[in-house]
Amino acid sequence: MAKKQEIYFNGDDCRFCNGMCCRYVTIDIEKEPRSEDRFDEIIWWLFNPNIKILKNGHTWSILVMGKCENLNESCKCDIYEARPDLCREYPPEEDGCHFDSIKRLEGTIFNTAEELLTYLADDRKKEWAKKRLEKIRATKIL
Ligand code: SF4
Ligand code: SF4
Repeated sequence: MAKKQEIYFNGDDCRFCNGMCCRYVTIDIEKEPRSEDRFDEIIWWLFNPNIKILKNGHTWSILVMGKCENLNESCKCDIYEARPDLCREYPPEEDGCHFDSIKRLEGTIFNTAEELLTYLADDRKKEWAKKRLEKIRATKIL
């Protein structure tokens, strides 16, 4: 799981960066997941290698990994003058950005269903998560 962001980066650092903020999108999950039913869907998402889950306090988001079609081989935006407002406003002045690594995003990243289930079993003491984890490990054909 990723650690919390500790370093501040701003737009001036872009020339040294690989355009990391153009290599994924985040979609907020409307309501903080709590029930096994809700987590069942999230576990299913996490079985897809392009999907990660970001938890920042009570806010949970889906991270869909994949490069924006406008990011060129020099890590520059091909439609810079016409880019969306969201891109123009990033990074927010007060927070900075994560520079060239998604691992510095503020919050915790769950990369796999097993990471999420381990967190739910160990930190949240969810018995159902422990059972599912054991079942996945016992079922997996290695
Ligand atoms: S992640 Fe930060 S430093 Fe890198 S391109 Fe985006 S705004 Fe610039
Ligand atoms: S439109 Fe340009 S600035 Fe926005 S994500 Fe794509 S490459 Fe990055």
